[in-house]
Amino acid sequence: MNLYDQIKNSLDIVDVIGEKVRLKRSGRGFVGLCPFHDEKTGSFHVFTDTQSYYCFGCHEAGDIFTFVMKTEGLNFQEALRLLASRAGIKIEGHEKKNRGEKSLYEILDIAEKFFMDNLTGPQGAVGRAYMQKRNMTANDITRFSLGYSLNSWDSLTKFLRQSGIKDKQILDAGLALPGNRGIYDRFRGRLIFPVKDITGKIIAFGGRLIDGEGAKYINSPENEIYSKRKNLYLLNGAKNFIKEKERSILVEGYMDALRLHKCGFGEAVASLGTSLTAEQAELLSRFSSRCYICYDSDTAGQNAALRGMYILAEHGLDVRVINIPEGKDPDEFLSANAPEEFEKIISEARPLVLQQIEILAPALKNPATRKNAASELFENLSKLKSNEVIPYRSQISELTLISPYELEERIFGKKIISEVNDNFLNDNQIFSHDDELLEAGLCALLFNHSECRLRLEPEEAYKILQSGIAKETAVSILTENPDNLFILWLSTGDTEKTGFIKRGEEYCRMFREENFQDVWEKIYNRIKYKWAQRRINEINMRMRQNLALPSELVEVRELTKVIEKLGVVS
Ligand SMILES: [Zn+2]
Repeated sequence: MNLYDQIKNSLDIVDVIGEKVRLKRSGRGFVGLCPFHDEKTGSFHVFTDTQSYYCFGCHEAGDIFTFVMKTEGLNFQEALRLLASRAGIKIEGHEKKNRGEKSLYEILDIAEKFFMDNLTGPQGAVGRAYMQKRNMTANDITRFSLGYSLNSWDSLTKFLRQSGIKDKQILDAGLALPGNRGIYDRFRGRLIFPVKDITGKIIAFGGRLIDGEGAKYINSPENEIYSKRKNLYLLNGAKNFIKEKERSILVEGYMDALRLHKCGFGEAVASLGTSLTAEQAELLSRFSSRCYICYDSDTAGQNAALRGMYILAEHGLDVRVINIPEGKDPDEFLSANAPEEFEKIISEARPLVLQQIEILAPALKNPATRKNAASELFENLSKLKSNEVIPYRSQISELTLISPYELEERIFGKKIISEVNDNFLNDNQIFSHDDELLEAGLCALLFNHSECRLRLEPEEAYKILQSGIAKETAVSILTENPDNLFILWLSTGDTEKTGFIKRGEEYCRMFREENFQDVWEKIYNRIKYKWAQRRINEINMRMRQNLALPSELVEVRELTKVIEKLGVVS
């Protein structure tokens, strides 16, 4: 039997869902308030015979795997791991070495308990004194599973040996180092921060020196269960807050993240001593599309940090940079100030565009370095969405001495063309004359009716529109006052966009509708429908090449719903 069936056979969907949703017996199953949409009477049904769920309100449907993926923000592999461990099923190869041996996960759990007992027990006075000095309470020890590694060469090693664990495994788990007289503890005299993966399993430790000598911070080495590129400290505890508050706060250090959680900012996570990676960006983007970066002021300006921020942006995150006054780190700041003060600093955070401009401003102001600095600026900004950059074009224009209109071309010219080409390649379908008129119609409606502008976010416009001119026109309209735009287009002789809108106006009249709202409904739905089809084709192609991500398989289901809903009207 494969792992998937094994898990399905050993877990009851009612137990799994029952942990998140209060279920009442009803007919051949159970019913409760839907976790996927807001409601006051239960339309969320769980069926025991088919081990599935269905919501009559929002039409969410699935099994334990989709339920865990959706509610925990996990991909299929992660959901499999989580449910396997819940069912007490060992995943072969990954976990278990030889019969009777403990898995790395189990060894880390034992070590974690040992560290925690140290911190609360008689030998942990040094650790507790340090906690007190940093204004951390006994309650924080439990809440964040903090621990203490004794300032001794072999206290953990001895303890693990007594639990029947072989030296080789202790080394594999990263808990000890090989020495001349046998192995010895890696973590000595340190406050211990357990690092958990997104499913909540301990995969590594970080240690802050408080007694003895050595580096201020050390971490577990990477091994088969721990990759620092793929994890974020406190993400498991933060993910629901990130979803709820629609933002994440990314900090550098363990203590910064802890302090933020303690002060009511449960959406904080820490990068694990690496520059940000695509994997970490993907993790964050699962829960919200806005990320606040709060680094020490000297790191935030460094190229490595900036590169990381672009990686986040390229994963669709709206990146804001928090600047704490007087170069303090979040831990220091919140130890001295009320949470409201920090909230205020968050509200003043700068979009990545502005952070980038400020970093390059000195070089841009100097005639000798201006040209190179401008190239660097344009190259970096081209990684962002055009609607994120366009609002700052007058500022960029002043610094680079390039006209606002030419800027768009310099930054996004190539990009928009290549994006459109990508769509052509992925679609295998030609962008027809009708499609162009449809998109022109949408732009005309946006241009002429403020009510339409309220119905569409620039991000969505950029996503669902297909032609470069439509993307540019719609995003400009949605981020700028259309009156000003019209003047700008006239003054720069941009007849392309004005002509495009004019064609769109003619197209809209062909609908012979009483009011523009009805025309909007028709055009918008048609465009969205076509976009969903393109996206499904794209994912299908990736599925055939075995390149599709589990999240994309889930996305196909969502898109199918969009198509079903819109298919009726189009
Ligand atoms: Zn629902």
